[in-house]
Amino acid sequence: MVRIGFEIHVQLGTESKLFCPCSTRFLDAEPNTNVCPVCTAQPGSKPDGINEDAVEKALKVALALGCDVVEKPLRFLRKHYFYPDLPNNYQRTSEPLAVNGELAGVRIREIHIEEDPGRYELREGLVDYNRSGVPLIEIVTEPDLRSVEDARDFLRHLRAVLDYLDVLLYPQIGFRVDANISIEGGERVEVKNINSIQSVVKALKYEIVRHKRVLSTGGRVARETRHWDEARGITVSLREKESVDDYRYIVDPDIPPYRIDAESVERIRSALPELPHQKKERFVREYGIDGSAAWTFALDKELATFFEKLVAKHGVKNALSFCLNLRGELNYRNIYFADVQGKDRFYKLADLYFTGRITKPVYIEYLRKTLDDPDFVPGAQEQLSDEAIREIALEVLKANPKAVEDYRAGEKKALNFLVGQMVSKTKGRADPKKAIRILQEVLRAS
Ligand SMILES: [Zn+2]
Repeated sequence: MVRIGFEIHVQLGTESKLFCPCSTRFLDAEPNTNVCPVCTAQPGSKPDGINEDAVEKALKVALALGCDVVEKPLRFLRKHYFYPDLPNNYQRTSEPLAVNGELAGVRIREIHIEEDPGRYELREGLVDYNRSGVPLIEIVTEPDLRSVEDARDFLRHLRAVLDYLDVLLYPQIGFRVDANISIEGGERVEVKNINSIQSVVKALKYEIVRHKRVLSTGGRVARETRHWDEARGITVSLREKESVDDYRYIVDPDIPPYRIDAESVERIRSALPELPHQKKERFVREYGIDGSAAWTFALDKELATFFEKLVAKHGVKNALSFCLNLRGELNYRNIYFADVQGKDRFYKLADLYFTGRITKPVYIEYLRKTLDDPDFVPGAQEQLSDEAIREIALEVLKANPKAVEDYRAGEKKALNFLVGQMVSKTKGRADPKKAIRILQEVLRAS
């Protein structure tokens, strides 16, 4: 039996860092410009009080995941380790702020707040402290997942919840995952710092194969921490797992305990938005679409919004087919609808198609172009005149005398072949029904 659990690190979309007023936008600034004495740990610097917006966003996540908020005042601990990205030589990390939650049958053990370290480029020996002090939450699950597919579905669901709550600092980054995995007869292995859901899937599959191989040759799977090497697609041993003692946790005397009052919790709880599973149920109920399509849309917040607007304009049936095609193309590109620029162009494309100004092959072609080229604006295609279609029909008949003969001998398949030739020659610039009608006219006349 496989057991998988996660520690998920989510950078919170607050304006300022956890204990200082520096901007959190570490990707949008020159290295070491969003910094101050606090987040670079200059001698004599003292952290400000905790950023309340970070606590608020952490609580939103905790409540959406059904956690109980811990009542006693929240204390911050110093977790010691030594690395160039950590100027204090310790990371400030809170005690659990919430416990005992659940998402899709997976128990959430706890959620706590911590500060992100800076970024260290090992190869060049450069360090950037723009990220140092950015608020994070760590969501810790129990090892309740039993397969790689379930693990992937769980992370997608969690990702959607975070999107709905609008708490991510950089939605395009999403979250970082530490995955722990064990199979029967082996120890638990932790794979650190995996940056995407696809990579989690690859790392877990790799580990399952590795564990089985070790066990089947009489070896033992050591309890250890491994690193996911994205480029090579393998995990590499980092170190024997440190125990809690190695971090020498102490309460941080610079940060006063923070009391979360029950009123704030209730205010946040009552303001929670519709969550993905609720949206799915509503789509099934309101629009009568099947559960799997509803879930596909619900997992992509902006696609779900787009779907509802299309329903209002073009009806459920059209909106459903358009959005399923769109979802397919997004999946193929491994992106969310939020990652696509210029959403208005998709409304325009739907208008063009559902009012019959472009044909189906052109609509599909335009859908791909609209996704791939941010400058492409779909417009009504140049429609061929009846005369031009007639010309093409004559050419097709001339080029395919055998098919014409077969058609006259009563072979229905021959007509399909000729129609296919028409479609490819007109490149979708002719309405198919019209093309068939003209083709038949020409056949009768010749
Ligand atoms: Zn700072």
